[in-house]
Amino acid sequence: MLVPGTKASAPNKKGIQTMAAPMLDAPRETLATLIGRSLTDRSEVDGLAELCSKAGGRLAGTPAHAAAEAWGRQRMRGIGLAPVRLQRFETPTWQRGACRLTIVRPDQGEVTCAAHGFTPRSAKAEADLIDLGPGLYRDFERRGRKLRGKFAFIGEAPPPGERAPHRSEQFRWACEAGAAGMLLGSRVPGLLPQTGMCAEEEASIPSVGLTLEDSARLLRLLRSGQRVRARVEMRNTVGVSRVANVLGDLKGRERPEEVVVIGGHLDAWDVAEGAVDNGTGCAVVLGVARALASLPEPPRRTVRFALWAAEEIGIVGSRRYVEKAWRSMDSHVAYLNFDMPGDPDRLLLCGRKAEVGALAEMQAILAGLGVTEPTSTGICLATDLKPFVFAGVPIVSALGTLRGGAGSCYHTAADTFDKVDVPSLLRMTACAAALTYALAECEEAPFLRHTGEQVRAAFAEEGIAGALEGADCRLPD
Ligand SMILES: [Zn+2]
Repeated sequence: MLVPGTKASAPNKKGIQTMAAPMLDAPRETLATLIGRSLTDRSEVDGLAELCSKAGGRLAGTPAHAAAEAWGRQRMRGIGLAPVRLQRFETPTWQRGACRLTIVRPDQGEVTCAAHGFTPRSAKAEADLIDLGPGLYRDFERRGRKLRGKFAFIGEAPPPGERAPHRSEQFRWACEAGAAGMLLGSRVPGLLPQTGMCAEEEASIPSVGLTLEDSARLLRLLRSGQRVRARVEMRNTVGVSRVANVLGDLKGRERPEEVVVIGGHLDAWDVAEGAVDNGTGCAVVLGVARALASLPEPPRRTVRFALWAAEEIGIVGSRRYVEKAWRSMDSHVAYLNFDMPGDPDRLLLCGRKAEVGALAEMQAILAGLGVTEPTSTGICLATDLKPFVFAGVPIVSALGTLRGGAGSCYHTAADTFDKVDVPSLLRMTACAAALTYALAECEEAPFLRHTGEQVRAAFAEEGIAGALEGADCRLPD
């Protein structure tokens, strides 16, 4: 059947021209059952509370991460997935030590800060601050040589409609300009500096997050013409650790070799409990596993549930999975990702605008859960989506909006279990369960894996062809 809004896709392996097939030949009653169960079963909310208490700040390479791996394996086994395995690999890791930020001119003493990931093992630097506004590329260009030997200070939000550069991009520009370090103001109030990566291996200069309140004051001082000088002292640990992705399968009843993967990252920043980022994503993945495993029979295809290691320090776990499974990538029918999922409001179909019609029926079914916005078709290279996007695997997922305190705890000490909005979490689980089941059950795979040429074309259409250069992810031949 031809679905409105879809178009002929590339020939499949047999050389037959196929159309994007409708994905909803999955029985409606089963979808309704899954949605109902997901909305009423709080087991994985309890599981999330346990994760937060047992393995709070679970940065890759820490004992807390190892405890989280054991937690994930135990929960998957309890749900009845088989096999459940730990996919181990080595990765560079970073651990926070002491960090002090002192405003020495005007003399204001020590202020709260949070070192960024992969800052040096040891650093001590004192320098004047240079106001870089929101820290866009043009701001760095405009300051040019003035930045040499000074601290790049970013204390402003980008203007509306302007993409905020990632902190690691800003850090790279600061390094290229010969800065002595980077100071990055928080975007959320409440004396909460934000952490996060600034590099993927040990950096040569320090970089720290400041509170919104301190950075607003320093910005006022600078803009009133005063000279502001700061001192940063830090110690961290940099090394290599063995960590593991936790993988569990629900074996398909008819085509077990074809796989739908649903994943979210297990690791979290050490400054809090990692409840929202990304305990909520893990709870969605496990909640879907629980709902699907409770059906009288599994869907046609295998569903693989993945809790990825080491996302926060460089999207390492999902990248390793894709590398290791490369030869079977053609049988990966779809990937769904949940990272700070929020309350569902739209579906996601990365880089496949022309095929969006195939999701129309699904959207109609999920409208009651809040999925009423147009499907997002932009290419997202953030989080664990990245290696699957590069590999050409169809990304079919759901996106949402963070409610309550969940929106303002990103990478701060406030990311604790009390910020989890349970109704949002259950609605997202219901959405994800229906979507996963439909993808794993439908007669014909609704989307085909893109060739290398198609991936390049999609990136070009999106205006992000530059992201293909020097990327650490593999493209299909
Ligand atoms: Zn995350």
